[in-house]
Amino acid sequence: MRVVVDLTRCEGYGQCAFLAPEVFAMRRSEALMYELHPADSERTRVLRAAAACPVQALVVDQVHTLGRPAKAAPLKPANGKRPVEVGRIVIVGASLAGLRAAATLRREGYAGSLTLISAEPYEPYDRPPLSKQVLTGQVAADDTALPRRAEFEAEWLLGQAATGLDLAARQVHLADGRKVDFDRLLIATGARARPWPNAAEAALDGVFVLRTNEDAARLRERLTARPGRVLIIGAGFTGSEIASVCRELGLDVTVTERGKAPLAGALGGTIGAIAADLQRDHGVDLRCGVTVEALEGDGDGRLRRARLSDGTTLDVDVAVAALGAERNVEWLEGSGLAAGVWGVACDAGCRAFDVNALVTDNVFVAGDVARFPHPVYEYQFLSLEHWGNAVTQAQVAAHNMISAESDRWPHVSLPVFWSAQFGTNIKSVGVPTFADEVVIAQGSVAERRFVAVYGNRGRITAAVAFDQAMWLDFYQAQIERAAPFPPGPGMVGRPDGLQVMPADVPQRISPAYGATVVLTGHNPDERRVTLQRRH
Ligand SMILES: Cc1cc2nc3c(=O)[nH]c(=O)nc-3n(C[C@H](O)[C@H](O)[C@H](O)COP(=O)(O)OP(=O)(O)OC[C@H]3O[C@@H](n4cnc5c(N)ncnc54)[C@H](O)[C@@H]3O)c2cc1C
Repeated sequence: MRVVVDLTRCEGYGQCAFLAPEVFAMRRSEALMYELHPADSERTRVLRAAAACPVQALVVDQVHTLGRPAKAAPLKPANGKRPVEVGRIVIVGASLAGLRAAATLRREGYAGSLTLISAEPYEPYDRPPLSKQVLTGQVAADDTALPRRAEFEAEWLLGQAATGLDLAARQVHLADGRKVDFDRLLIATGARARPWPNAAEAALDGVFVLRTNEDAARLRERLTARPGRVLIIGAGFTGSEIASVCRELGLDVTVTERGKAPLAGALGGTIGAIAADLQRDHGVDLRCGVTVEALEGDGDGRLRRARLSDGTTLDVDVAVAALGAERNVEWLEGSGLAAGVWGVACDAGCRAFDVNALVTDNVFVAGDVARFPHPVYEYQFLSLEHWGNAVTQAQVAAHNMISAESDRWPHVSLPVFWSAQFGTNIKSVGVPTFADEVVIAQGSVAERRFVAVYGNRGRITAAVAFDQAMWLDFYQAQIERAAPFPPGPGMVGRPDGLQVMPADVPQRISPAYGATVVLTGHNPDERRVTLQRRH
């Protein structure tokens, strides 16, 4: 039996921990930890917990092997309408977005040929546990396979990287030289960990990144060997979660962050300062405004020291480069799609743009690799690395792939994100970086149980909760109906006198970052765009 909790929905009611305490546990008041692969003897209790969950956040699988289903899932046309005839569908990238898209296609009645291609040799697995339950040892790295509500029929080409896309011939090229024909294509190739930029230093024994189950297995093994000080380079969500686990394991840890506070890139400097206090209170040696200038090894190629920009040298056995993600777009080079450092641009219906910003009608994009305009955020293009976005965007993309133009959906759900660190459940709705001001609208910063509400030019644009997830549905509705910022009086748990503070979000990098857009031709029929990349 496999279980996954949709933590974007979970509001920390804890019913599951009451009903199946061997499987679910609450850390402090809201952070839920759980077994992904509980014993079959727990099945009844887990199913009771799934039924009792007030927000229906638990997904329990029925089968968990790839290949031919024992019993085919019943076909159900979408909205009572039959799917349009589209021929062969190919999905490149078989992780969260790819799997959810495939399941949606079948659920909505697509009965044609379906192929999933993935560079990784594993069946689709969940990444959030890799920096949480896997590093603490609660779950094995190879045991985070994503559950399925129902099995479906598809051809799985695992361990096969796509190396090229020929739009004219409608073919995906594979590393082994094969060409896979498609009529409709979904690009769901996600992202990878940005490596430590100095290749020789990155190769030292003791230098890690974290994106895949193999990365997590290696890092877990090293942490289990109880190294001396661990250095985490970068205090985004992943780096902060790894630091949290290190402290939980009783390991000394230093975190260096180039910006002014942990999580400041995602939540702004004002809320980042609270995250900094959280880290220091838990014994992290946090150094902000500091970069790592060099990692140094011994004669055997083992990491021994790090030289920091504040002039200090640290003796370290383990360094984790948590420098963010790079989108997996190289295989699209020369394809004519608008693919670049922020991912593959697409419209709100998930259809890919070509370099001329013309929308294609047979190539769709979903998940971390997608860059899409969001009407609530002035149609600006968003590139997200959120579990919830990968799920909803994949579902919209799959629906649109088999729907007539008039039945297509826009992907306009608000971004939702969660993180568990230092016993605190941090959740956000909306886009906190799309803000100039922030207020603490509920709760108390001193108790680390509060809701921060973000605003941009008099409108609420985001909310971030520290152990107060139950408020996020309310603020989601506020964002959706463009409620005024700062939020009005008369709310429960509201501190006296709201203090409007600068959100202190980092400068946004322009979408054309890393490429020069060159226009050629004069007449409308010949005027075109070329992207010239700076490598
Ligand atoms: C350690 C960690 C912790 C996280 N924690 C959270 C969290 O707490 N909350 C949250 O909201 N989100 C979290 N996330 C983010 C979340 O996991 C991602 O948003 C999600 O995995 C995106 O799914 P995806 O399918 O779009 O991309 P990915 O999961 O990146 O999958 C892309 C797949 O495509 C494959 N691929 C790439 N290139 C090719 C190619 N050329 N050919 C074939 N296949 C290819 C890759 O190997 C991979 O299997 C976390 C991520 C990580 C790494």
